[in-house]
Order: sequence, then C-alpha cells, then structure tokens
Amino acid sequence: MGKKVDRFSGYFNRAVETMSPRERKDYQNHSLRQIIQYAHRRSPGIRENFRSAGIVPEDIRTVKDLEKVPVTEKASLISLQREDPPFGGLLATPHNRLRRIYLTPGPILVPEAKKSRYWRWETAFYAAGFRKGDIVQVTLSYHLTPGGWMLEEPLHSLGCTVIPAGVGNLDAQVRLMHELEVTGIVGMPSFLMSLGDHAEKVGLDVKRDLSLEVSFLTIELLTDTMRKSIEDRFGMMARQGYGTAEVGAIAYECVENRGMHIADDLILEIVDPATGKQLGPGEIGEVVVTLFNRAYTLIRFGTGDLSCYDDDPCPCGRTSARLPRLLGRVDQATKVKGVFIHPSQTDQIMSRFPEVTRYQVVVTKGEKADEMTFTIELRDEDIDRDRLRTHLEHTIREAIKVRGKVEFHPQGSIPEGAKTIEDRRPWS
Ligand SMILES: [Zn+2]
Repeated sequence: MGKKVDRFSGYFNRAVETMSPRERKDYQNHSLRQIIQYAHRRSPGIRENFRSAGIVPEDIRTVKDLEKVPVTEKASLISLQREDPPFGGLLATPHNRLRRIYLTPGPILVPEAKKSRYWRWETAFYAAGFRKGDIVQVTLSYHLTPGGWMLEEPLHSLGCTVIPAGVGNLDAQVRLMHELEVTGIVGMPSFLMSLGDHAEKVGLDVKRDLSLEVSFLTIELLTDTMRKSIEDRFGMMARQGYGTAEVGAIAYECVENRGMHIADDLILEIVDPATGKQLGPGEIGEVVVTLFNRAYTLIRFGTGDLSCYDDDPCPCGRTSARLPRLLGRVDQATKVKGVFIHPSQTDQIMSRFPEVTRYQVVVTKGEKADEMTFTIELRDEDIDRDRLRTHLEHTIREAIKVRGKVEFHPQGSIPEGAKTIEDRRPWS
C-alpha cells in the first residue's frame, strides 16, 4: 500500500475511546458490579477470596470499593493452580470449552476463551497506525505461550494480512519482508534490530528495499533511545503495547507518544503494594487490573509491574489516562519516605552524568527518618566534586521527589555484583 494511507487520525472505536470522564466512570462501575456478581457465582477462587476478606459482592459498588478485595498476585497463580488445578478456581467455564490453553514460564497455565477480540489489542494496533491492507509479520512465538496468536487475531479485525513468522529464522524472515513488501511488523525491539542487521548482511538497504511503515513492539521495555534507533533505521513509526499473558492488552501508545493509554475495557488501579490502597496521579505503585472477562475471572490481578498514571488530556482525543512508562518490578523496588524507588529510575538519573562510572544507593534508618545515600565512583578523580554533588542532589530530588545524599568513593569501592539499591534498614 502506498504512502497515502492515513495512519495518524481516527479511532478503532470512537465512542469507547473518547468517553467523557462521567461516562467512563459510569461504564466502569456498572461493568464492575456485573463482573463481581458473575465471578462470585461462577468462580470458586473468587468466592474464596471474598470469604477470606469477609466481603460479599454487594460490598463492591464502585472502583473505589475494589480496595476491599485482596490483590491476587501473578506469582501466586503458580501455587493456586497447583492447589486447585488446572486454573486455580478462577475459570468460570469448563476447560474443555476453551479455544486454546497455553503454558507460560512459571509454570502458569493460561486460558483463551472462544470469544472474538478476546485479547483486546484492536484499539492498540489502530492507535499505533496499523490499517486495513497492511501486510504484517508477527515475529512472536506461536507455541505454548500466547504472544503470537494474541497479537495476530486483532490484526484480522483491522483487516490486515498476517504472516505468522514466529521467532528465529532470520533468513526467511528478511526474505518474506522484502518479497511480500511487508508494511507492518510486530515483535520485540531487540529482535527487530537483529532483523535489521541481518537484512544489511544479505545486502539490503533497510530503508530503501523494505516497505515497513509501522511497528508494534512489546514484551521488552522500549527505551527512547531504542525507539529512535528503530524509527530512524527502518523509516517507520514504532509504538509499544503493554500487556501480560493472562490479561492481554493493558495499555498502548498512540501516535502522540505521550505514554501508554490504559485500555478502555478493564479497570486499572495503581496500588500501594504494602496496603492495597489506590494511589493518585503521579504516585508510583503496582499495576493491578480487573477484567470484565467472563471465562477467566481476574479480579484485582496484581501484575507485579510498577508504574504511575497521568490523567492530563492527550491531544489524540482518547480520554483514558496514560502510564508514562513502566518502572520495573515491584519486588526490586524499595520504599523510602513513602516513595517507591526502583533501579530503573536511579539508572536513568545516573545515565545523565557521564562523570559517574558506578553507583549504589544505600537506604538506612536515620535518627528521624530514612536516609538515602548515593555512593558514587567517578571516571576522573580530579573533577570539581562540590559542583557535581550539588547538580546530582538536585537532579535526584527533582526526579524521585526524595532527598538523596551523594558521597564520592574511590574506584573499586562498590563490591562487584552489589545490588543497585541496598536496603540496610532493620526489619521492624
Ligand atoms: Zn493519545
């Protein structure tokens, strides 16, 4: 297809994607009450969860009420499924009525019901610029894990033609892309770069000889640097989607590139992992989702991922809040003065200072409050330390909203293999 396709405007489902805040709230509360009633009736695991928390479905009227429901962590699915096979009591339908059953690392079994648009990625692909008539190569695995099928089916809803390429086979993949004039690609950022390398190795000019215009990246985190290098190299737009094997679509980027819009057809809370309480805009916590799925009833499913949300309006016209980015896993984070600090945040801060070769964050219990110290090794020991210290401390406070003390140590002071953030506070 030619360059005249409009990849930048429109919606997959305008009514849903541009709901007013009032409509969105009503829709969510209504759908929530329905799924809670249904899940409680049909899923033994949900019934048990409610019973242990001493609540009944009528207690859950609004999204705020969800705080009363204990979070079911993704990691706990392993033991839930072992104790109550095959699906830990969360399946509301006999498993011989499913369309597919997957096995993901954990090991965790994942069901897929016979329902159209089960994984709900259609809006995401549209927002990323995929259109009817695109020939799309899906470079994710098609066996045992749901990645390939999950991302192929929405492309059919959009009217695309799919090449189920799977992983590996660089030679065949490059040939297909070239000969079939593939316009869209779905995969992991690192795999796209390998494809680019291989295409060059066999003598192709990636920009001139390939016809790629759009890409949808997932599974690995897409950094700004990686996005830019993919977009520049292939001359195409690169947008990412965030989801899990259990849930399907959770959030996705639009052309504006201002973070990932939260999918319209689920409830996403950012939750304090210690208390299960909902947090406000900009506050960092765990991504917890509730699906309106009538086969696999995931109510307050804890993804283990850390993020925060931003509800400022987006120029694209979609009214859902956005996740500016993912901030790593809950189990790698440390809470200091009520704020989650994650290695991905401190890495990002330090990457702005070429003077710093290595660093470690040490959290200790001070006289009055917790203290956070950045132990830093410098490339050049003769540098103006006071100036650098001031600049570092200012940047730390701006970026993570917690004051951090900077200490310079000689090269080699930080032990090999030391944790990026070391919590030395006594357990209380
Ligand atoms: Zn947008």
